[in-house]
Amino acid sequence: MQASNEAAAKDARSILENIRELAADFAGERSERQQRRELVQADFDRLRDTGFLRTAVPVEQGGIWEGLQRSNRAICEMLRALAQSDSSVALVASMHPSVLQYTGWLSLPEAPHPYRGAWDEQRRWAFQTALDGSQWGTIMSEAGSGGDTSKTKATARPTGHDDTYLLDGEKHFGSGSGITSYVITIAVPEGEDEADIFFMDMRDVPWDGSTGMKLAAAWDGCGMTATQSHSMTFKDFPVTRSAWPGASQLRSNPGGGYACMFAAVVVGIVESAIGTARRQLQRKRDSMLAYERTEWARVEIEGWLIQQAYEGMLRAVEQPSSGNREPRLGKAAIAELAESVMLRICKVVGGGSYSRNSPFGFWLEDVRALGFLRPPWGLAFDQIYQGSWDA
Ligand SMILES: Cc1cc2nc3c(=O)[nH]c(=O)nc-3n(C[C@H](O)[C@H](O)[C@H](O)COP(=O)(O)OP(=O)(O)OC[C@H]3O[C@@H](n4cnc5c(N)ncnc54)[C@H](O)[C@@H]3O)c2cc1C
Repeated sequence: MQASNEAAAKDARSILENIRELAADFAGERSERQQRRELVQADFDRLRDTGFLRTAVPVEQGGIWEGLQRSNRAICEMLRALAQSDSSVALVASMHPSVLQYTGWLSLPEAPHPYRGAWDEQRRWAFQTALDGSQWGTIMSEAGSGGDTSKTKATARPTGHDDTYLLDGEKHFGSGSGITSYVITIAVPEGEDEADIFFMDMRDVPWDGSTGMKLAAAWDGCGMTATQSHSMTFKDFPVTRSAWPGASQLRSNPGGGYACMFAAVVVGIVESAIGTARRQLQRKRDSMLAYERTEWARVEIEGWLIQQAYEGMLRAVEQPSSGNREPRLGKAAIAELAESVMLRICKVVGGGSYSRNSPFGFWLEDVRALGFLRPPWGLAFDQIYQGSWDA
């Protein structure tokens, strides 16, 4: 056991090094990348070659996942490094380990009777797809649900064949559409009251509705402009149900991991922004006006607070009895602080930050994604408020 832990830690370090090299290449193309409205497959081929997809595969099956407590920080550091040079690629990448946690496959190794055998088989299959180079993503969100999965209106009708169902519904924010091979979603199975998890094979599926999936609206984000977070309409589209119904409700720390992973992306963006601004401002550091000096000092303060919140989230998840509260607080704090830092940077840098040749306006919009990511603002604040009394 000790030997396999050490090997996994070594593997994780080498993947992080590979990602840092990849990010250094991407950084040289930052301006061109920030103007993109689409993802480029070659970036994800290179990301796969770093070993990143193994973050969502347990050590026993050839990956580096040793449980959330041990693996969360390493994965977050990879995403943070990637986000320092390409926000959209990093956000799409963050979905891969988040999704395999969300399903419960990573955190619930054993199902009770009568699901044990099928769960085991499904987990093994899913991990093998990742080892084979398949990127996972999610298209759970539905307009009007405010990120609350219990409000899904999507339905899934059993076909009578194994775990195959037919999905009907409107889904949006499918980040990585066209890049992801497999995608999870949620829907209410016909004849049941509670929503459950389903997944679908997106490889070579046409987007014209001819096989049940139609592009309803292409992603047109002001920020995270290239994530291809498209809206899709599903009509009788074949999906497979989680082999352990309701498993996602039973994970020990639901949401803690992906809150950290989404936050890591924004931490990476803010670091790049502060570093770039500091270099740019060197030449006018002695001639800045009082307001600019004050705003810059606040950038320093808020940048520091972001680092503390990030570290606090990671540390909380590393505790044996970690709950959701700290990652939730950290994600909301970083979302607010990141927006504030970026606004201040733009003011100090000056009107040039409005130019599409300047990186700051893009970063300002990119960091705004964090507050909308699961759980989005309204839901997050409700949960934080409620948690205050529960604690
Ligand atoms: C950059 C980015 C990437 C994302 N990637 C993913 C992803 O990969 N997969 C994924 O599943 N989710 C993804 N999300 C979505 C995210 O997880 C949240 O679900 C989403 O941001 C919630 O949006 P919202 O708060 O605007 O809620 P919404 O439910 O969309 O809208 C909030 C409010 O708007 C009104 N409203 C909007 N549309 C309607 C409607 N049709 N009917 C009634 N009222 C309506 C309602 O008052 C509603 O309460 C992404 C989000 C962002 C910003």
